[in-house]
Amino acid sequence: MSIAIVGAGLAGATAATELRKQGYREPITLIGGEAHLPYERPPLSKGYLMGRQPFEKALVHDRGWYDEHGIELMLGTRATAIDLERRTVQTEPAAGDGESRAVRFDQLLLATGATPRRLDLGDGVGPMVTLRTVDDSDALRAAFRPGARMAIVGAGWIGLEAASAARQSEVEVTVFETAELPLLRVLGPELAQVVAELHRGHGVDLRLGTRVAPADLVGADLVLAAVGVTPAIELAEAAGLATDDGVLVDARLRASDPRVYAVGDIAAHDHPVLGRRIRVEHWDTAIRQARTAARNLLGAEEPYTRLPYFFTDQYDMGMEYVGSVGPDGYDRVDIEGSTDVLAGHAFRAFWVKDGTVAAAMHVNDWDASRVIRESVGAAR
Ligand SMILES: Cc1cc2nc3c(=O)[nH]c(=O)nc-3n(C[C@H](O)[C@H](O)[C@H](O)COP(=O)(O)OP(=O)(O)OC[C@H]3O[C@@H](n4cnc5c(N)ncnc54)[C@H](O)[C@@H]3O)c2cc1C
Repeated sequence: MSIAIVGAGLAGATAATELRKQGYREPITLIGGEAHLPYERPPLSKGYLMGRQPFEKALVHDRGWYDEHGIELMLGTRATAIDLERRTVQTEPAAGDGESRAVRFDQLLLATGATPRRLDLGDGVGPMVTLRTVDDSDALRAAFRPGARMAIVGAGWIGLEAASAARQSEVEVTVFETAELPLLRVLGPELAQVVAELHRGHGVDLRLGTRVAPADLVGADLVLAAVGVTPAIELAEAAGLATDDGVLVDARLRASDPRVYAVGDIAAHDHPVLGRRIRVEHWDTAIRQARTAARNLLGAEEPYTRLPYFFTDQYDMGMEYVGSVGPDGYDRVDIEGSTDVLAGHAFRAFWVKDGTVAAAMHVNDWDASRVIRESVGAAR
């Protein structure tokens, strides 16, 4: 029995790791479009972008590990088609060496991640980049000079982390956001306001409620489009798998074909605890779903029940968030502690819906990690 994994990012490499850990000895082929060994992306907008962390620290494993564990790594190789009848993944020729191949599989794991949305603002706008890969991060860092002017479109996690890294490199930063506050949809107005104050306090020119126009970007040395990502589902769609803003997977992460699983940023998961379909674009989910799917590929039949979790670091602020506020929103948010983050204070926040905590977070209060996790789902 052989397993092919398409997408050699965090989820793909973690699944390969778990398969071997579970004692699976048959062939594993890991196919990745990027030329780099599988790596973690969070440092690309934080320590690595600021030149404080080497790339090697972001690798899931060094090259020797894949050899030692008998994992065939096909890097710099894009999968172009999946044939579910014949059980093959067609690949394009890897850069430089040649031939397209049909990789045979008995079971398949899809972990193709997501692709940044692009902005088309016409001619006359300075160089525009997105931030997803280590090459993107290198390009951005090359433009970090004291006094350089950077425009960031989108005040989501990536835009704000890039703003923080740029300010710490003495770059002049303007952020454009259509919503009235940064991260408004995730945090709600009470906490989004805290994020706005944090960035303004560090000298970011934050232009909220603003749809960016080409004229706004004329003086910028560099423009970062940080306007979200779309799940890379083209292969799955063309293969006839059920998709809808993600590859549709059941509670056990299985796609509409029982030999196929999907995990990480592409998986639109029927979450058994939340009781709704959710696609999560976070580091922890990529790792945990990959482990569960690997065990299920080996017959475990485990539902994936973990609640979404993410972290961010911006300036001196670190935070962790657990849970998910559903489409009906929340009734109130309880805040414990001081939200004066610029003064170095710490706090916890609990979003409550119908007397139950839907999501919780702490800022700069690392002892609270467990408390916030355990609070989600509890009465309050
Ligand atoms: C700059 C940045 C910072 C982040 N910071 C945080 C953070 O602080 N906290 C947090 O929780 N999350 C963070 N994230 C999100 C987190 O990194 C992602 O959720 C995670 O990488 C998803 O893993 P994945 O394996 O599903 O996808 P990816 O890591 O994107 O890997 C998918 C891989 O599949 C490859 N691929 C796609 N199509 C094909 C194909 N046809 N053939 C072959 N290969 C293909 C891609 O090239 C890619 O290498 C950050 C993301 C970015 C970009």
